[in-house]
Amino acid sequence: MIAEGISLQQLISGTYILSALLFVYGLKMLGKPDTARRGNMLSSVGMLIAIVVTLLAEEILSFQWIVIAAIAGGVVGAFAARMIAMTSMPEMVALFNGSGGLASLMVGWAALYTTGNTTFTVFTIFLAILIGGVTFSGSLVAWGKLSEVMPSGAIVFKAQRLVNGVLLLALIFAGVMLCLNPSTTSNEFYAVIALSLIFGVMVVIPIGGADMPVVISLLNSYSGLAACAAGFAINNVILIVAGSLVGAAGLILTNIMCKAMNRSLANVLFSGFGAVKTATKVEGEVKPIVAEDAFLVLEAASNVTFVPGYGMAVAQAQHVVRELGELLEANGCEVTYAIHPVAGRMPGHMNVLLAEANVPYDQLIEMDEINPRIENVDVAVVIGANDVVNPAAREDENSPIYGMPIINVDKARTVFVLKRSMASGFSGVDNPLFFGDNTRMLFGDAKESLSRVIAEFKS
Ligand code: NDP
Repeated sequence: MIAEGISLQQLISGTYILSALLFVYGLKMLGKPDTARRGNMLSSVGMLIAIVVTLLAEEILSFQWIVIAAIAGGVVGAFAARMIAMTSMPEMVALFNGSGGLASLMVGWAALYTTGNTTFTVFTIFLAILIGGVTFSGSLVAWGKLSEVMPSGAIVFKAQRLVNGVLLLALIFAGVMLCLNPSTTSNEFYAVIALSLIFGVMVVIPIGGADMPVVISLLNSYSGLAACAAGFAINNVILIVAGSLVGAAGLILTNIMCKAMNRSLANVLFSGFGAVKTATKVEGEVKPIVAEDAFLVLEAASNVTFVPGYGMAVAQAQHVVRELGELLEANGCEVTYAIHPVAGRMPGHMNVLLAEANVPYDQLIEMDEINPRIENVDVAVVIGANDVVNPAAREDENSPIYGMPIINVDKARTVFVLKRSMASGFSGVDNPLFFGDNTRMLFGDAKESLSRVIAEFKS
């Protein structure tokens, strides 16, 4: 008894409800940019309360390992977050996702040591290990593809589906055997762990190029589902709630990403992106422009739309973009920022960068909003975007990105493309936009090019 009439278990349950409410309310606040920061904070407080209260549980016999692990994890996390360059954020998010999967796998593993588990509990342990393992190894592959440690395209081979099918059957068989004979030393237990890890690699390698956003959001969802299964395995309500929230949010995001690519989830998962099609070779005349001339065109423009992409993140050009936007506005020009849902290397990448640079949120417009009026845009300034403005997605049926909706900057009156070379984007596909009659290439690092245009404005 903690106080008259309230048992420790009741206190824990009551506090879990409070934490769950904070998660849900915090998530709701994440939906709007002006409340997002507070929402994040609120959910974090909910998690802190949940952790502290969980530590009060009577089953904890020794705090020694918990303290050691918390310090070790805290130090590694703080060090990684401090050291990592802003440009490597997407890779870090992939690794964090994988860590979530690994943690669920370990929780499932540890739960198997408990004696007297029911068949249902062992089944949830199996799910925690399976989904956790797939999330862990799959996220490592995603990290490899994002950081280009391994080829970012699809890796496909003959009989891949057959191999995956056999793997899945073996996993189910090992899972059934584990449920019948729950033991941490049995062959079926080792088989479940090994097969889950292999399966994670196998399901992510055939997906690459422009389909990667779907994998990233799907792995995100898996990490939640793994935590949810781990929650059932150890009978912890708040882990079930938090896991379900992450799982559901990840699935919604996956759906949004699929819509952004105009593909079904099955098509993304099973078609092997970029593996079979070869885009038509693009040829033509490239018309470069220097910053001084770009300034003259921009100064005369009455409306300008910036279209940021991954290159803006690499150049860390978001602050100079905002500065140029402000100068243009002071010059009487209407300024907007058109955001493609899969621009950059993680969902919401461009929104995060522009918010960091304090770009007013009401100037951000979505692809579906800008496209119908793109013909009226005087200058579309493409800042390190490539795949998301590639007209081949609209016109070239042989292109691996055919069918993916793009921001139709080629239909604007004038297009400036800021990039360093003629290199292709993440999907490795050539871009006919660069040869368009109304396109001018402003070669160089995006931040430097924009700074030169700003210097012209100021001089
Ligand atoms: P892309 O990857 O298509 O193109 C980025 C361009 O930026 C490159 O062509 C590069 O050209 C240029 N660039 C790089 N560094 C600089 C610099 N310092 N200054 C100026 N330009 C630079 O980016 P998009 O945003 O258009 O498209 C995103 C792609 O990534 C899509 O294919 C998407 O599917 C995929 N993806 C998205 C994820 C997400 O969740 N959003 C996750 C994983 C993948 P150059 O080298 O010539 O400068």
